[in-house]
Amino acid sequence: MSLFEYAPAPESRSIVDIAPSYGLFIDGEFGEAKDTFKTINPADEEVLTEVALAAPEDVDRAVAAARRAFESWSALPGSERAKYLFRIARILQERSRELAVLESLDNGKPIKESRDVDLPLVAAHFFYYAGWADKLKYAGLGPDPRPLGVAGQVIPWNFPLLMLAWKIAPALATGNTVVLKPAETTPLSALFFADVCRQADLPPGVVNIVTGAGDTGRYLVEHPDVNKVAFTGSTEVGRQIARSVAGTGKKLTLELGGKAANIVFDDAPIDQAVEGIVNGIFFNQGHVCCAGSRLLVQESIAEELLTSLKRRMATLRVGDPLDKNTDIGAINSRAQLDRITELSEIGATEGAERWSPECSLPDRGFWFAPTIFTGVTQAHRIAREEIFGPVLSVLTFRTPAEAVEKANNTPYGLSAGIWTEKGSRILAVADKLRAGVVWANTFNKFDPTSPFGGYKESGYGREGGRHGLEAYLA
Ligand code: NAD
Ligand code: MN
Repeated sequence: MSLFEYAPAPESRSIVDIAPSYGLFIDGEFGEAKDTFKTINPADEEVLTEVALAAPEDVDRAVAAARRAFESWSALPGSERAKYLFRIARILQERSRELAVLESLDNGKPIKESRDVDLPLVAAHFFYYAGWADKLKYAGLGPDPRPLGVAGQVIPWNFPLLMLAWKIAPALATGNTVVLKPAETTPLSALFFADVCRQADLPPGVVNIVTGAGDTGRYLVEHPDVNKVAFTGSTEVGRQIARSVAGTGKKLTLELGGKAANIVFDDAPIDQAVEGIVNGIFFNQGHVCCAGSRLLVQESIAEELLTSLKRRMATLRVGDPLDKNTDIGAINSRAQLDRITELSEIGATEGAERWSPECSLPDRGFWFAPTIFTGVTQAHRIAREEIFGPVLSVLTFRTPAEAVEKANNTPYGLSAGIWTEKGSRILAVADKLRAGVVWANTFNKFDPTSPFGGYKESGYGREGGRHGLEAYLA
């Protein structure tokens, strides 16, 4: 049920030109590989283009190019490196409309989000780290911090260009060179970024983009001439990488999964909390490592809050990612849709009560209606495992101590949210939460100046802010 209908308001696809095929970006040039794979638009399963599949010898060439470029790039004064980064940031801003459409096509996220969240944050990251490039000796990391060398970076599909920015901006600012592998379902914005590097006259070999699947990623992180590995993705793959990097002397940062608690106390402003819950779990289809996927609500207000939440969920518009009114776009891949579907079925089988608003989903493409489960207990798999989709598990608590205990009862520790009108309660509770980021009376807010990262199985190391420099300096 929606209160009134909106006329379609699609952003034009013709803003972006997608070529019939793309090669690997190595040493400043696009070149072919032996094999290719296709990337599709998850909203309608249309093939967007064909992309090179990097074999081990291609990764070797990319690492060798990055090694050659390292010598002169690391020797540049920081103020010169900053000029390139500022240039890249400005070009990203100029081309943001094109890149937002591309990102929504390849990933399935609503244009409202790629346009208003992803792209502004991408540019902001480059601006922010450009500002650090000539100030590294004032970063509190010693009088003469040195770059590590070649960084091998592997990123996921949920924020393709933003994760690229989180990885590449600090690496370049600190004088490292990069070989980056984007996720196999979302390679296009990284390839367009390669074009941005050329437009900025970035010296060849400073940034190399190799496309491919898990094998390409594994080959990159295991490459003996890589000095630094940065990975964002599943805990399972993160564990494999930690094992393969152990004892090699490579520096490693891992940003893995999460199962964040969004805690609503009885004195919270209900309407704002409902907006924060919706943003916490339905932003980016819930494909967010720090998503507020466990709602912990104080028992005395649970009924009132759930009534408001359901009313709000009934107004969410699911559909065409390019429509400017769309709130929830497509699930990124068939495999991810299957995972979400399976865990949701398990939730119902284990006895939790499932609810979704009435909404008609498109016939083609990968879709999942926003869903909540009530009557969830700590033992349920949907309370423990990362679903990485638009599915919220609701648990209740009676006392602040119980809320803290439940919030921390997870193998993860990436983020958490607190909703209360008392500042003292925010401070007291935040202090006890084992989570890298704690939001108070808001959720899923990001800023390049603010470090981000987890405890326990959510990984280690921090990205963003001054702390983010440390991962790329000796
Ligand atoms: P994944 O970890 O398999 O993929 C992430 C990236 O790692 C991709 O670029 C992939 O090609 C690459 N990769 C895969 N195997 C590799 C290996 N052995 N060595 C090096 N690189 C490798 O994640 P997925 O299969 O796309 O998603 C599975 C689950 O992971 C999701 O359901 C979600 O729970 C979680 N996930 C978390 C994040 C996050 O931001 N923390 C992002 C994506 C997925
Ligand atoms: Mn795609």
